[in-house]
Amino acid sequence: MNLVEAIQIEKTYLSGEAQVSAIKHADFSIETASFVSFVGPSGSGKSTLLNMIGCLDHPSSGSLTVAGKDVNSLDRYSAAKFRGEHIGFIFQDFNLIPVLTIAENIEYPLIMVQNWPQQKRQQRVNELMDAVGISDQASKYPDQLSGGQKQRVAIARALVTHAKLILADEPTANLDHDTAYRIIDLMKKMRNDYGTTFIFSTHDPKIMDAAEIIYTLEDGQIKQTKGGTKHG
Ligand code: ADP
Ligand code: MG
Repeated sequence: MNLVEAIQIEKTYLSGEAQVSAIKHADFSIETASFVSFVGPSGSGKSTLLNMIGCLDHPSSGSLTVAGKDVNSLDRYSAAKFRGEHIGFIFQDFNLIPVLTIAENIEYPLIMVQNWPQQKRQQRVNELMDAVGISDQASKYPDQLSGGQKQRVAIARALVTHAKLILADEPTANLDHDTAYRIIDLMKKMRNDYGTTFIFSTHDPKIMDAAEIIYTLEDGQIKQTKGGTKHG
């Protein structure tokens, strides 16, 4: 089953008088449990594409379906609800909440989005801390952790709600090379263990090699350059 299906999507930004064509007639589809990278230099449209798939922004035209839903039809409220149910996010600068412990950071989406009872939350948080190897950091605060450890917490937080799809916009940009590899490996392990689909962006050629499917972006044009069936 295709988890993401884009047909001729375009994104145009208005910047003062000028129109910026950030994504040009993109066609692609991403199957459930894929491990995909969007690759391209700064300004090539990676974040624009991830934001549209993550229902944070709408395409200007074309059709975009995520988890069977035409996301162009979602208003702000239903988009937020849809994200909470289906999508997890991982950021370049980790975006952990500094006043919450590691365990509380991971628990946060279960309280805010899903309203799980306390015992079930505790169980799930412990399971995820174990899975990403940070159980011994549970009661620490984010600023006591290294970059690699923070990104492990962010991965656990993204997975905690059983999201089908994890979107990671340059998740390794603030990490040294060895740590970056380990984070991408961990994401792949989570895909293998849970069947979660991962889409991450990078402009690092070494990191992108870990992806099974690569879409290369250049000035808003997208082209599949590794894996699966080739698309325009
Ligand atoms: P990347 O993530 O690959 O660096 P982006 O998706 O951020 O690329 O940007 C793609 C293009 O769209 C760039 O030319 C950028 O300047 C432009 N752009 C991105 N966001 C906006 C915005 N909110 N308003 C105007 N132009 C934008
Ligand atoms: Mg970007």
